[in-house]
Amino acid sequence: MIDLCLNNVKGLCDPMVGIDQVLEKLSTVIDPDLKKDIVSMGMIKDLELNDGNLKFTLELTTPACPFNVEIEDDVRKVVGEIEGLKNFDMNVTAKVMEGRSLDADTGMATVKNIIGVASGKGGVGKSTVSLNLALALSQTGAKVGLLDADIYGPSIPLMLGMKDGFMQVEDNKLQPAESYGLKVVSFGFFAEQAHQAAIYRGPIISGILKQFLVDTNWVDLDYLIVDLPPGTGDIPLTLAQTIPITGILVVTTPQDVASNVAVKAIGMFEKLNVPIIGVVENMSHFICPNCTDKHYIFGKGGAKKISEQFNIPFLGEIPLNSGIMSGSDLGKPIMISNPDSPSAVAFRTSAKNIAAQCSILAAKLQQEMASEENTESAPEASTSG
Ligand code: ADP
Repeated sequence: MIDLCLNNVKGLCDPMVGIDQVLEKLSTVIDPDLKKDIVSMGMIKDLELNDGNLKFTLELTTPACPFNVEIEDDVRKVVGEIEGLKNFDMNVTAKVMEGRSLDADTGMATVKNIIGVASGKGGVGKSTVSLNLALALSQTGAKVGLLDADIYGPSIPLMLGMKDGFMQVEDNKLQPAESYGLKVVSFGFFAEQAHQAAIYRGPIISGILKQFLVDTNWVDLDYLIVDLPPGTGDIPLTLAQTIPITGILVVTTPQDVASNVAVKAIGMFEKLNVPIIGVVENMSHFICPNCTDKHYIFGKGGAKKISEQFNIPFLGEIPLNSGIMSGSDLGKPIMISNPDSPSAVAFRTSAKNIAAQCSILAAKLQQEMASEENTESAPEASTSG
C-alpha cells in the first residue's frame, strides 16, 4: 500500500478524483505484445475508488510474459500521476489467455493452449527443448502438461528419470503421471506396447495420439506442450486435424537450416492453416567456459533467416552444452539441476517469448470469434428500395 498523502503534497489528497479519470490514465498503458491498452484488454479487475482510496487487480495475460514487470511499473507510474489519490493498492495476478477454441464439441476444453513442437528431422534436440521449455513455463507459475507424441521413439520418461513410470486409468480416462510439477503422458509408460511401436501403422498410431489427447484427464492446463516426432508424418498430421491447437513451435539447428528440412515442416503446417508460433534454434552456439564468448561453430543466423523467409517470430537460441545433454541422460533436466546456468536462462527467455506469442495468437482468436458473433447477430441488410 502506498500512502500518496505521506508528504502532504498539494492537491494529492483532493478526494475529487473520479473513476473515469483513473481509467483514462490506466488506458495510456499499452501491452507491448498485444499493442493494446490494458483497460480495453480487460486487464483491470475489481476496481474500487472510495474517497481517494484506489484499489484494483492487474490481471496479466500469462505469468510468463516477458513484459510483466514493465507493465506493472508503467501502471504504478501512471497511477502516481493521478492527482487527488490518497492511497493505492494493487494486486497483480495472471490468467493465461485461451489460445484455442474451448468449445465443448472440440474436446480438451480444460486446456487453454496446445503447442506442438516440430522439427524437420530427428536429433535436433526437439524432445530436450520441449521438456526444458515445459519446465521453464511451469516455473513461472503456469500449469503445464507435456505429451510425448513421439510414439515410435518416446524419450521423455528417460529424460525425466521415470524409466519405470506408468499411467493409471480411472473412469475410462488416462491419468497423467507427474514429474517436477508437469503432467506427463508418454507411450514410453506402456513398456510392452512401446517395444512394438515400430511395426504400428498409420491408423493405429493416429488412434493412440487421439486417445492421449482427448481420453486423458488433463485437468486445468495453461499450456500443453506436444513433443511431435520429426518430419511430416501421420502424428503431426493427426495433431493438426484432430483438435484446434494454438500453434506449432519449430525447433531447428544451424545444420538443419542448411539442409532445408525445417522448411518442409513449416510448409506442411502452413498448408493445414495451423499457426506457426515461431522458431527456436537449438545447439545454436557454444559458450566458452573460460571466456564466456559465444562461438557459432555451425554457422550463425540460420534460424533467423528462416524466420524472415516465412515471416514467423524468432523466439530464441539455445547453446550447445554438455550440461543440457547430461541433464537429460541423468533424468534431471538442466532447468531443475542448474536453473541459473546460461543454458537455463536461454530456455527461460525462449519460454517467455513463446508465452507472449501464445497471448498474441489468443488475442487474434478472440477478435475473430467476436467478429464472427457480430456477423451472425447482425440484422440482414435490407434489399428493398
Ligand atoms: P530429438 O528429439 O530432436 O530427436 P533429442 O532431444 O533426443 O533430439 O536430443 C538428441 C541428443 O542431443 C540427446 O543426446 C540430447 O541430450 C542432445 N542435445 C539436445 N540438445 C542439446 C544441446 N543444446 N546441447 C547439448 N546436447 C543436446
